[in-house]
Amino acid sequence: MNDSFVPPSRLTAADLAAIEARVQEIGRRLLERALEAQPGIVSADYWAQQAGEWATHDDELKVRLFRLVDCMPMLDDPAALDRHVREYLDDDVVARLPNPLRAGLQAARSGLLAPFAARAVRAATLAQARRFIAGTTPEEAATAALTQRRRHRAFTLDLLGEAVISDAEADAYAAAYARLLAELPPLAARWPADRLVDDGPGGAPLPRVNVSLKLSALDGRFDAIDPEGTTERVLARLRPLWRAARDHGGQVHVDMESHATKDLTLTIFKRIAMEEEFRDWPHCGIVIQCYLREAVRDLADLAAWAERRGTPVWVRLVKGAYWDHETIHARAAGWPVPVWERKWETDRCYETATTFVMEQSRLLRPALGSHNLRSLAHGMAVAEHLGLDRREVEMQMLYGMADPEKEAVTAAGWRLRVYMPYGQLVPGMAYLVRRLLENSSNDSFLRAGFVQHVPPATLLAPPGPTATSAREAPPVDHDTFQNEPLTDFALEPARRAMQAAVERARARFDAGRPEVVPVVIGGVREERGTRFPRHDPADHGRLVAQVSAATLGDADRAVAACRAALPGWRDAGVERRAEVLRHAATLMRLRRFELAALQVFEVGKPWREADADVAEAIDFCEYYAREAVRLGRPRLVDVPGEENASAFLPRGVTAVIAPWNFPLAILTGMTTAALVTGNPVVMKPAEQSSLTALRLHEILLEAGVPPGALALLPGRGEQVGPSLVEHPDVATIVFTGSRAVGLAINAQAAAASAAPGARLVKRVIAEMGGKNAIIVDDDADLDEAVAAVVRSAFGFQGQKCSACSRVIVLANVHDAFVARLAGAVRSLAVGPAADPGTQVGPVVDREAFERVRSFIDLGRRTARELAAVEVGPIADRGWFVGPHVFADVDPAGPLGQEEIFGPVLAVLRARDFDHAIEIANGTAYALTAGICSRSPSRLERARRELAAGNVYLNRGITGAFVHRQPFGGYRMSGIGSKAGGPDYLLQFVTPRTVTENTVRRGFAPAGKTAAGPHP
Ligand SMILES: Cc1cc2nc3c(=O)[nH]c(=O)nc-3n(C[C@H](O)[C@H](O)[C@H](O)COP(=O)(O)OP(=O)(O)OC[C@H]3O[C@@H](n4cnc5c(N)ncnc54)[C@H](O)[C@@H]3O)c2cc1C
Repeated sequence: MNDSFVPPSRLTAADLAAIEARVQEIGRRLLERALEAQPGIVSADYWAQQAGEWATHDDELKVRLFRLVDCMPMLDDPAALDRHVREYLDDDVVARLPNPLRAGLQAARSGLLAPFAARAVRAATLAQARRFIAGTTPEEAATAALTQRRRHRAFTLDLLGEAVISDAEADAYAAAYARLLAELPPLAARWPADRLVDDGPGGAPLPRVNVSLKLSALDGRFDAIDPEGTTERVLARLRPLWRAARDHGGQVHVDMESHATKDLTLTIFKRIAMEEEFRDWPHCGIVIQCYLREAVRDLADLAAWAERRGTPVWVRLVKGAYWDHETIHARAAGWPVPVWERKWETDRCYETATTFVMEQSRLLRPALGSHNLRSLAHGMAVAEHLGLDRREVEMQMLYGMADPEKEAVTAAGWRLRVYMPYGQLVPGMAYLVRRLLENSSNDSFLRAGFVQHVPPATLLAPPGPTATSAREAPPVDHDTFQNEPLTDFALEPARRAMQAAVERARARFDAGRPEVVPVVIGGVREERGTRFPRHDPADHGRLVAQVSAATLGDADRAVAACRAALPGWRDAGVERRAEVLRHAATLMRLRRFELAALQVFEVGKPWREADADVAEAIDFCEYYAREAVRLGRPRLVDVPGEENASAFLPRGVTAVIAPWNFPLAILTGMTTAALVTGNPVVMKPAEQSSLTALRLHEILLEAGVPPGALALLPGRGEQVGPSLVEHPDVATIVFTGSRAVGLAINAQAAAASAAPGARLVKRVIAEMGGKNAIIVDDDADLDEAVAAVVRSAFGFQGQKCSACSRVIVLANVHDAFVARLAGAVRSLAVGPAADPGTQVGPVVDREAFERVRSFIDLGRRTARELAAVEVGPIADRGWFVGPHVFADVDPAGPLGQEEIFGPVLAVLRARDFDHAIEIANGTAYALTAGICSRSPSRLERARRELAAGNVYLNRGITGAFVHRQPFGGYRMSGIGSKAGGPDYLLQFVTPRTVTENTVRRGFAPAGKTAAGPHP
């Protein structure tokens, strides 16, 4: 990311001074004119501004109002509407509203008028949305466009859509644009000419019909992790639209969305514009967001590219509409924030970009999208100074906003284009909330100029630091634990590094010399004659490893070695052990892509999931290192004549019996928790992920774990597992896996503890799966609910203990939800995990394949199949099972009760919210659960009533982060405290207190008499 890129410019200091003087003149004239046309107290604009103003002063009010606005269109049932208005605008909130609104609402709420009050609030909200939206149909939009034209304004139409999550939705979006581009130009050709609007560069006519579109809406799985696949799919839908525009007399402008898809959007735009059939077509354009630090660098690349193309393109410069999202998202992910963090920096970047584009106008046609009169005046002054013909440049503003400014700009003789969204109100709400956020922002020009009446000199001042503009990023807290950031695969270097690691791993496996996973005891690697092969689950022909099968004798020797190593490891001290864990984390960071690539082939984990697994393993090392040091602090309570010291001792040799589904993370978590508290460990990894376990073993030894304190026993669980559990010298068993095995271990451990001669009571820590549910409430944002359910149900093929395997949908939205869910599931890409475009890889082995298939057969017999993805020819090579969704599932039947651990999702219909909670809690498990709802009271009930160790509101239910979401369940889901949480390590230690009477003949040592805990 480059902050300091300075583009070349021909302008001297004298030029810049002259430009600045003109900016002031132009700016004052625009401002005066706009203020003359400002709305009075009776206009709708005035009330919109005021509403934003109230919200600006009160953050909580703002959140409540915007959330209420967001769910309004869903609430056509009067009772639901009344409930939501009451919940969001409770007495406390209403009391904070200004009079007369407060008085009106209070009167209406308390009496018979309550339903009318709710309806009035809804009507007002929808009216607000309509202010920004130019109609619901193309016909209405065309009429609105013509009205703008009559006011000497050009337009660009934008079809508002729900987030596209399926191929069918992408097809529908493309079809709507195709229709617009075919039907509107012939009508527009008959409109009377308007030279201010129609004359483009050199006097050539501009297309009268101009559309703006979002590339993410042209693909059901638009994702920067797979630029090639996404580009091909988008281009297949985009080319016909460009052809229609070119052939019928239209112009196409590509909008810019989040930073995560910015490079991909630019790549696709450049690809299509460079194709032979479009290369000499000038009526296309792209957006550059100047709140991005990379904006000017991107413009320089674009200019160089346009030079090669030989035909200019339009560039719409905006500041950007997703500032809050970009900031929050980057901070939460631990990534560098891609946007400027002070407003003046964005404004200055905008001016630098404007100057650059104006200077390159032969290649990049300038379109300035802004409501900031300083920004626009600057653009006008630069254009004048450079001698640009006004017809080469245009100003652009949003529909429903800043009408007085629009008047001022056209009166000054500049072409003004109005960006006009049209479409349904439900997707329109996201657009409305963006506009409200923008208008109520402390940094908004419109608010400063037209609501707060900031003096012109301040409004028009060149962007630069001011006393009030400092907005520092929250200080980085180095003392609290920070999660290891996930890899940002939107960045090309990250994709290249992962691809290279995948290729290296593939080449190694395909060379035909598989690595043998040995038994390792006391640091000695011993290969066993009895071995079993581990193949890539995506390819039966690719041998990943040969795994030695540890014997019962090995188990005995491993425990003995650990027992011998116990005193030394215990006495090494917690600081040393924590240092070893931190060193292990460093080694994992260095080998991050190699470790992820190994999982891709060994267990079929797609890229993102594999990367997240390694990051979690690093987190466990860092987190438990810190926690162990905290736990290891001496606890001293001294009273006069008495000293008390409490400390924790390691419990003893620990057997770690790990699963394959988080092959590095879970094994690391369980092993390092035991090690850091002083317990030697016998690792028994899952047979499917033995090579990853070997890598972990190597890393931990390299990091400094004494060889005797960590044994590796690969092999089949049923062979060495029971002997470890029953071994008299094994004090603790940590297990993650199925309920049946977990319960068996618990029983074996209890029996062994009661056996004659036993010297300790074994402790079992077991994590045993779930039958996790997400409730979809009748006011849920379906865009988000479908995405959350799909991600939670099919991420890593549903093979996570936290995966969603039941979705419980309220009756009123059941059919709408299910239709979108089925479309989204049908569009999932099933394939080898090595391919970055794969969303659903293979299941782990034949046994899993057969079990999942048997549940699918059962589903076909007992429920209604909603979606079934056929996997095609890859089924011959690997253990592929396409995602399946079944509706009308019996909550009490096997599909509603049993853990499937595969890509199979059951949909259950709930009569009402009580019924939904009852179904959600109606299994023996209690691991994860979630709800998608916009009702505060229902979210509150979910918080209290959902029976699960991890409850998630309005998000997916997988992907818990160490420390942020300590993970683990209760009931049949597990025994013990949560992994990655502050209590976890306590399970590996025994507390012990030593008390000394320090009085000798009435005399006690000085300085040791203070009562209370030692500091
Ligand atoms: C025709 C048109 C098309 C558009 N198309 C797109 C598009 O494709 N993609 C898109 O993202 N947006 C698009 N927008 C929206 C546009 O980004 C916003 O309307 C615009 O950012 C508002 O900026 P302004 O210059 O009008 O107002 P100003 O009030 O001068 O600036 C507000 C902008 O400053 C930025 N900002 C606010 N606080 C800070 C801070 N603390 N630090 C740094 N920066 C800050 C934010 O980007 C904010 O939007 C479009 C706008 C128009 C007019």
